[in-house]
Amino acid sequence: MRAELIDGAAIAAQIRSEIARDVGALAARGVVPGLTVVLVGEDPASAVYVANKEKFAKQAGMRGDTIRLAASTSQAELLALVERLNADPAVHGILVQMPLPSHIDPDVVIRHIDPRKDVDGFHPVNVGKLLIGHTDGFLPCTPAGVIELLLRSGVETRGAEAVIVGRSNIVGKPMAALLMQPRAGGDATVTVCHSRSRDLYEHTRRADILIAAIGRAEMIRGEHIKPGATVIDVGMNRVADPSRASGSRLCGDVHFDSAAEVAGRITPVPGGVGPMTIAMLLQNAVRAAERSIT
Ligand code: NDP
Repeated sequence: MRAELIDGAAIAAQIRSEIARDVGALAARGVVPGLTVVLVGEDPASAVYVANKEKFAKQAGMRGDTIRLAASTSQAELLALVERLNADPAVHGILVQMPLPSHIDPDVVIRHIDPRKDVDGFHPVNVGKLLIGHTDGFLPCTPAGVIELLLRSGVETRGAEAVIVGRSNIVGKPMAALLMQPRAGGDATVTVCHSRSRDLYEHTRRADILIAAIGRAEMIRGEHIKPGATVIDVGMNRVADPSRASGSRLCGDVHFDSAAEVAGRITPVPGGVGPMTIAMLLQNAVRAAERSIT
């Protein structure tokens, strides 16, 4: 392996310890940051994410609550719950775990959350603030975590060719908006690729910073990467692996072994972007609590 590993687990642990310090400072002012996660239904992957969010919130000294609702919960019932949480002064951050059951429109739910409590950063008000470059909103956790990984690993984004594969509202689009902001962790020249892109690998091969957010297991291989590039793998895919007792393993959108022979730096999966997403969520909840008293 030639590439240097960007250790997201270690960087996220560092950020969580900084958050615990901020939580302590808030406690001295009589405020305990409160994060409430709402889980509708029993999607097993969502249940694991939600349990981790609650665990790390509590570890940082925050109030971490999970409200579990049956998959049959109606949209009106969920909206009524969101309204109650909007009005509850002990709740600083609200996160409704996606995906929701198909009878509930996620956009309606997201628009219902008070933007000042939208710690996922998905409300149109926060998306607009991100694009304009206003810093009083909330950044979506996964792309914000990627920027933090780049900053804390000393990766120069200014003037860099950054290529993002994926244009979803939760990763690709906000990732592009962050990388193009005129500030530290930004100032990159950004290309966004998707399933309709012509000559995808022409783009990936000229990236100084390549960000894969595709949802296709190990699609990006070493030959698609510019030598020395920084590769950030957002992908989280479970694939069959008969050699493991569980019969499966987690992998990214990048084929790690071949990419690590070519890249200069690379994130692993697991232990790369994933832990950063939760750390940034906690950071948003702490900011929400701070803003509630200023
Ligand atoms: P989406 O499915 O919403 O978006 C995937 C994007 O990849 C789309 O823009 C799609 O293009 C593009 N794409 C799909 N196939 C190709 C292809 N063959 N060539 C080029 N582009 C392609 O996924 P998400 O953005 O929600 O998530 C992406 C990955 O990141 C997933 O593996 C997900 O599990 C993971 N993830 C990880 C998180 C973490 O905390 N680590 C958090 C969030 C997501 P088009 O728009 O044209 O369809």
